[in-house]
Amino acid sequence: MYKRILLKKNLSWGFSSQKQTSKAFMHNWNSVVGLEVHAQLLTDSKLFSGSNNSFGTPLNSAVSYFDASLPGTLPVLNRKCVELGVKTATALNCRINEISMFDRKHYFYADLPVGYQITQQRAALANDGELTFPVIIPGKKTYHKKARLLQLQLEQDSGKSLHDEELKRSLVDLNRAGAPLIELVFAPDLETGEEAASLVKELILILKCLQSCSCKMEEGALRVDANVSIHRSGEPFGVRTEIKNIGSVRSISQAITYEIQRQLDIVSKGGVITNETRAWDAAERCTVAMRDKEVLQDYRFMPEPNLPPLRLNLTTTADSLNEDLISVASISKELPELPEDIRSNLVKKYQLNQDTAVILVNETRLLQYFLNVMEHLPNIPAKLVTNFLINDLLTFCNKANIDIESCQLTYTLLEDILTALNAGTINLQAGRQLIEILHEDPTQNVQLVIKDRNLEQITDDETIEELCRQAIERHEQAVKQYKSGKKKAIFAIVGEVSKLSKQRANMKVVVACLENMLKS
Ligand code: ADP
Ligand code: MG
Repeated sequence: MYKRILLKKNLSWGFSSQKQTSKAFMHNWNSVVGLEVHAQLLTDSKLFSGSNNSFGTPLNSAVSYFDASLPGTLPVLNRKCVELGVKTATALNCRINEISMFDRKHYFYADLPVGYQITQQRAALANDGELTFPVIIPGKKTYHKKARLLQLQLEQDSGKSLHDEELKRSLVDLNRAGAPLIELVFAPDLETGEEAASLVKELILILKCLQSCSCKMEEGALRVDANVSIHRSGEPFGVRTEIKNIGSVRSISQAITYEIQRQLDIVSKGGVITNETRAWDAAERCTVAMRDKEVLQDYRFMPEPNLPPLRLNLTTTADSLNEDLISVASISKELPELPEDIRSNLVKKYQLNQDTAVILVNETRLLQYFLNVMEHLPNIPAKLVTNFLINDLLTFCNKANIDIESCQLTYTLLEDILTALNAGTINLQAGRQLIEILHEDPTQNVQLVIKDRNLEQITDDETIEELCRQAIERHEQAVKQYKSGKKKAIFAIVGEVSKLSKQRANMKVVVACLENMLKS
């Protein structure tokens, strides 16, 4: 049980506890969540211009005349962006459209010098996909959820406005202007913050796997808007609010959970929900109103006259007429193994449980550690390896507040520790100590550290018997209790043996020995 909870803890996206509206009231209400995700495509250049598309270049240094909207400049569609869009759409089981079109969406903002964004409105690159993902909540049974993907479209990013509080001026950086985005519009098929966070986590794994997006939310490479509403069972969906630009997977769960509760509180007091845009304040842990959407904004959509319709080759046979077109079939042929496949193969091949497979696949480095050990040491039980990785290595990283990616333990060191553990040369406590020692100095040799630090496990009967004798002497009370039927009293004595042996005694042998000695 302890292990299960620990395991689930490593997977939870954080659930903020709040003042609850009465359970009876909430019982009749359902919450609905629909996500819109913007993902920046990992390409060298922008969607319609040749300028640099990397994060962190000096301000306004990656801006072509087209990006700055100089009159007379024209868009040229970047083939790589279309390929990545198609690749992503294929991985998400979409119907790819043979013809898609570009439109202008008008709005007025300082970081959009031309006054419109080129996007796809009338005919998107792809529609009707779906994403199935595992939802793991501590203390609850893991389940799979499916969300329909209504639309996947190509569009331009805007520039960035920087507000200088001291000078009371707004400055504009156009490096991001025209960067390639895909927008993914999901159907309102989710119910909770945790489901939404789990969807985004799975999407991140897929996009990284496809190398279509860096998914660095802290750099704005992946941005999530969450639409949230509540309604009574059996009634139509309620009015929704939209939480814009949530900055991390954990915040997605927290923001939506908060927003559902806020709406429940309002209706329980007889209030009504207004259609508004809100923001998540991660420091204050609440959503705050940004602007209301009561007045429908008119974007004056119109066809982009400077770009012809985008045509793709949907045929599966070689076709000389379509030679220059991007072939959907050849892109789908090259799709890598996706997270869901990796997980089910792990479950099949190593008899892992679902939750374990999810944790391994969530942390690329952890999966690499696991596969490496299994490849080199096929005789070590997979369960021993996953338990050590998840309950000990991952926990060490969490406690030390380091990313697993920056853990200094090499594959070879890990293999040597596990070999010693599996052979019984050391016990789990020593294994944990070794993680710490070797993370500090990975140039050391596992065997030598075990010798130098006296970490060998004590298993020989004689020594253990002697330790048990000492422990029994020190715990008269516990011995009495044990003998009068309170079996749990043995733990106090076991703990004493462990202490006396400096955590080196083999606990199985200790328990057996104590049980034997206390029989009479
Ligand atoms: P808009 O045109 O305002 O963008 P859409 O109908 O395209 O509205 O929906 C945008 C997003 O809002 C979608 O992700 C969808 O799932 C979500 N959504 C729509 N209705 C609701 C609702 N009642 N509750 C929660 N989310 C919703
Ligand atoms: Mg929308």
